[in-house]
Formats: sequence, C-alpha cells, structure tokens
Amino acid sequence: MDFRDAPEEAAFREEVKAFLAVEFKGASDGGLEASGPNAERAKEEVSRGGVDRFGAYKGWMKKLAAKGWTAPAWPKEYGGAGMTVMQQFVFNEEMAKARAPRPGGIGIAFGGPTIIAYGTDEQKREHLPGILSGDAVWCQGFSEPGSGSDLASLQTRAEKDGDDYVINGQKIWTSGAQFAQRMILLARTDPNAPKHKGISYFLLDMKSPGVSVRPLVNMANLPGFSEVFFDNVRVPAKDLLGEENRGWYVATTTLDIERSSIGTSIAQQQSVDDLIRFAKEMGNGKGENGNGRAKSVRAELADRCIEAETARLLSYRVITLQNRGMVPNHESSAVKLYAAELSQRVAETGIRITGLYGQLDRGPSDEKDSASNRWALNRGRFMRSYLQTVSATIAGGTSEVQRNIIATRGLGLPRD
Ligand SMILES: Cc1cc2nc3c(=O)[nH]c(=O)nc-3n(C[C@H](O)[C@H](O)[C@H](O)COP(=O)(O)OP(=O)(O)OC[C@H]3O[C@@H](n4cnc5c(N)ncnc54)[C@H](O)[C@@H]3O)c2cc1C
Repeated sequence: MDFRDAPEEAAFREEVKAFLAVEFKGASDGGLEASGPNAERAKEEVSRGGVDRFGAYKGWMKKLAAKGWTAPAWPKEYGGAGMTVMQQFVFNEEMAKARAPRPGGIGIAFGGPTIIAYGTDEQKREHLPGILSGDAVWCQGFSEPGSGSDLASLQTRAEKDGDDYVINGQKIWTSGAQFAQRMILLARTDPNAPKHKGISYFLLDMKSPGVSVRPLVNMANLPGFSEVFFDNVRVPAKDLLGEENRGWYVATTTLDIERSSIGTSIAQQQSVDDLIRFAKEMGNGKGENGNGRAKSVRAELADRCIEAETARLLSYRVITLQNRGMVPNHESSAVKLYAAELSQRVAETGIRITGLYGQLDRGPSDEKDSASNRWALNRGRFMRSYLQTVSATIAGGTSEVQRNIIATRGLGLPRD
C-alpha cells in the first residue's frame, strides 16, 4: 500500500503545518481546553484567578477563523472552508499530531451541516453565523431515559398549537446542555404513526420558558452532561427543521456525519508514545528475564502500539471510502468500536505503568505548590482518561450496537 500524499495534498499538509508552527502555542498535555466539560472546569479556574485556558482556547479558535478553518467540512458559501474529504483528513491529522484542539462542538459538527442540508434560507441566515463565530453553543437533545440505542422509541411530545409546537417530556445525557444556547431536538409529533415516521426535528432556543436543565456530574467529577426537562415549552413553527414527521430522516443525516475518527486514533498513538517514553525514563521496561513487572510492561506497550496502528489504519479505510464518494457504514462502526475500547485499554495501561503518581489528579492551576500539582504525572492525564473513557463504549452508540451493525451489515449474519 502506498499511503503517500498526492502532490496537492502534500502542499496542503505543508500549509497546515506551517500555520500550526507559527500560530499554535498550546501545551502538549491539553493546556488549551476545548468546549465541553473541561471548558466548564477551565472557566471555574479562571474565576479563581488561575491560568485562562478557556480564553486561550477561544483565542485559538479566532486564529482558525481568520484562516477560514473553523468549519473545515462546510461549503464556502456558508462560511466554511469547503475542504475536500482528503483535505479534511490532512487537516484533522496535522491538528491531532500538533495536539491542537480541533474546532468542533455539536454546532460545527452536526447542527450546522444538518441546517445546511435541510434548513430554509431564513434558518441558515439565523443560525449559521452564530455557530461559526462560536457565539451560539449547541447541544444535542436526542437520548431519553427510555430511548438511547433504540432512539426511534423516543417519547418527548411536540403538539401543534396555532403557530407553535408545545413540547413536553425529558432528555438525558445531553452533553453541554448547561451552557448551550440552542438544542437540536427530536420530538414525537405523531404518536399514532410507526415509530420512525412520527418524529420531528427542532432547533430549540434553550432560553424558552419551561426548559429546565439539571447538570449530572460524572465519575470524573465533571458536569459533562445534563437532564433537560420540557414543561409546555412553546417552539415557533419556524424552528422546525425539514418536514413535520420526517425528523428521523433529518436525524440520520446528523448521525452520518464525521465517522473516520482520525483525530482520536492519532491521540491514542500519542498516548502510547508518551507511555513508552515514560517507561524508558523510569526504567520500567528494564529487568532480567525473571522480572515479571518489566516483562508485562514491555508486552503491554507492544500490544498497545500495534493496536494504535490498527486504529489508524481502520480510520484510513473510512477516509478512502468517503474519498471515493461512498458512505461508510459498518466500516465506521468498526472504527468507533475499536477506538472506544482501545481508549480504555490505553488508559488502563497508563494507570498501571505510572503507578500511584499516575492516579493523582492535577490541582487547581492557581495552587502551583499544592501536593497534587507537584506530584501528579502529566497533570493527571492518565487518571482522568481512566475515568473519562469508561463512557467511550456507551456515548455515540454502544459497543454492543456497533457489533450488531458489523455482524449484520458487514458480515451478512441474520439479525436475531
Ligand atoms: C459521555 C456521554 C455523552 C452523551 N452525550 C449525548 C448527547 O449529547 N446527546 C444525546 O442525545 N445523547 C447523548 N448520550 C447518550 C448516548 O447516545 C446513549 O447513552 C447511548 O445511545 C446508549 O443509550 P442508553 O444509555 O439509553 O442505553 P441503552 O440503549 O438502554 O442500552 C443499555 C445496554 O443494553 C445494550 N443494548 C441495547 N440495545 C441492544 C441491542 N439491540 N443488542 C445488544 N445490546 C443492546 C447496550 O449496549 C447497553 O449495554 C451520551 C452518552 C454518554 C455516555
């Protein structure tokens, strides 16, 4: 196989690298905080007088915006970079290699592209500029207490009343809902229709009366997601995206976007490289043949190294399909499944190799001399990823569901 860039991709890669070399001044261990739960924590630190990592993140997004790279996949006419599939791949790969936060969030990744595909001109004018500038943060209100894997069974109701829809029900696990201004929301508009055919897709204003958000704190002690309750919330009909009762098909577009996970697989490889360096520095890989710990460290790192490379090649397969104009299906499930389970194995290896120091979390950045800041390795990176990756095999479709897709659509096995 020849994985070399074509001349135009090589030139674009140099452009991205040159931009990163000049403009990106981030710390190698996540010194800039992306949006989402870590941003919440970063804001808390700023308010306590700590280092402004969230501000640094926003500054970085401005630099990307000046280059026109905030929304790599969006067409140019809507303010995006209009990158080809291969350019997006090169961009994501180089950003990940530099450990630079990628522009993203629900608005850039899902909301915007779905509005571009299904929105009216008025909806595009109203929503796309705020997503691009970062002024409007979006969240995704799909999952409900009884509807996750079987999303089409969702029960939140939207009843037509004059020029409005009236929403009642509940969402759960809504990432970032507590600081979002808008939500892409699925609600049932026809309870008598077959379950996929009675759902509509709304662009909800989170400030609407009757919306209440209750943050949930996860096991990493971060308020990553929330419960969201709707009590007679009135949504104007202009905020319906696509046709009434056809929302499931609009949602499929949302869920089909971005499947290669190249950024994730590069990040795994970097974590493994960091662990190899750490093991060498600490002499963890050393030992006589009889030294069981040294042997297990070496074997474990060798396994993770092979797996990280496998994850990268699975991502390449998805990119190759997209570049040929095909829509990846079970191939994306393989990437998602493998990357999620690998992230847990890498975190476990990290914790095992770094020992007790690796189990310490970093302290607040304004308390430089605290014991945790002095002793936490990599600012508590492996301890946090150990806790945070538990959810990787659930979020965005569980591993069991991905295995079902691979077995039925990929291998042609019967459903049940
Ligand atoms: C960190 C995180 C962030 C999230 N963010 C969002 C968000 O922003 N917006 C949003 O809408 N949702 C979000 N979710 C919800 C996520 O999409 C759901 O958790 C996921 O789809 C699983 O649904 P569930 O939790 O209801 O589990 P269930 O679907 O109830 O599954 C329970 C168990 O049964 C298994 N199972 C279910 N069906 C099958 C089957 N057919 N065959 C075999 N096993 C099966 C599952 O694999 C799982 O082990 C988030 C979840 C997490 C963990």
